[in-house]
Amino acid sequence: MIKLSDRLNSVEESVTLAINAQVKKLSQDGKKIYNLSVGEPVMATPPYIQDFVATKLDQNHYTAAAGMPELRARIAEHTNSFYRVNWISEENIVVVAGGKPGIFLPLLALLNPGDEVILPTPAWVSHKYIIELAGGKSIEVPLNNDFDLDLAAITKNISKKTKGILINSPSNPASTMYSSQSLKRLSKVVNEHNLFVLSDDIYVKLIYDESFEPITNFGFKNLIISNGFSKSQALTGWRIGYVIAEKQIIDAIIKLQSHLLGNVSSLSQFAALAALEQNDKPPMLDDLKANRKIALEIVSTIPKVTCPTPAGAFYILLNIKNITDDSLSWSQKLLEKKGVAVVPGDDFSAKGFVRISFACDEITLKEGLQKIKEFIEESL
Ligand code: PLP
Repeated sequence: MIKLSDRLNSVEESVTLAINAQVKKLSQDGKKIYNLSVGEPVMATPPYIQDFVATKLDQNHYTAAAGMPELRARIAEHTNSFYRVNWISEENIVVVAGGKPGIFLPLLALLNPGDEVILPTPAWVSHKYIIELAGGKSIEVPLNNDFDLDLAAITKNISKKTKGILINSPSNPASTMYSSQSLKRLSKVVNEHNLFVLSDDIYVKLIYDESFEPITNFGFKNLIISNGFSKSQALTGWRIGYVIAEKQIIDAIIKLQSHLLGNVSSLSQFAALAALEQNDKPPMLDDLKANRKIALEIVSTIPKVTCPTPAGAFYILLNIKNITDDSLSWSQKLLEKKGVAVVPGDDFSAKGFVRISFACDEITLKEGLQKIKEFIEESL
């Protein structure tokens, strides 16, 4: 048997796979499943996108590796307004195939083997693996008890090998946001050490009631933003996003992309143009807000558990430490006994937590949460 590359040594199989396999099996056996594990809005592609793309089905040729010029220009215009700046031009934008490459490509462009990237945790499962696959080393630094950046701990972890920090606000899995005060302090620290800040902004269009201060407000010298349409327009399967950065980094990403993907699907690029015609306003935001209220109301009646209030995104990070630290076994039992699928926190460096998505339909959410309540009450 031929040996696989060492590159894969640091990448582990997700514990979520065990849950997914169980969901599949139980569904095949005809058991009713309340799936609260999804990481995407349930709605179909918005009609304004479907209709526009339907007129472009004959656009079958390669596009520029950086993305269609009209799309880059439109994204630049939109993001100047959204991020309240005026420095973003077409040359600061590259169109990529979703939020994942939006993290991967900048890191490939920036990291040398052994370079360290600070990763505040809990963090989305792919972040650490993307850092490692891009040749870096992820240095996990826990958030404080308020799920805010712990500046003292971050500063302590900066070494000669540190190249940057990967942040995500609102975050997956906590759905919380960093305070403006901590971002201001972070900016001072990273600028002093000449580090990059890669901001995963994939949930930034899904913010509920907090006043939003864009990441561009804090004076980061080396700022890279990854954003996209997966969560804001429910286009997860279309694979379309973009990176905003200084020209030198964008050019490096274009070079990588030209040899890797060529270009993002032309039809997906038209979908993005249609989304921007609507100012990339998330069509499901009101529904998510209503679901968030329902979820918080039900969770507040469940004994022994707590959660931070989601400021954005669509997750409840349920603290079950008063019941168990073993989130995986607990999630498996919950699924077996009550048919409710949640994601154990282990993959997010959040042992003793489970992630519940409220981006599902209202009935599934209500019934699923009631089942969780029953499950916990029966175990007391
Ligand atoms: N970043 C975070 C924090 C996410 O939660 C996700 C998807 O779940 C992504 C990036 C990836 O988004 P995409 O589907 O556009 O690759």
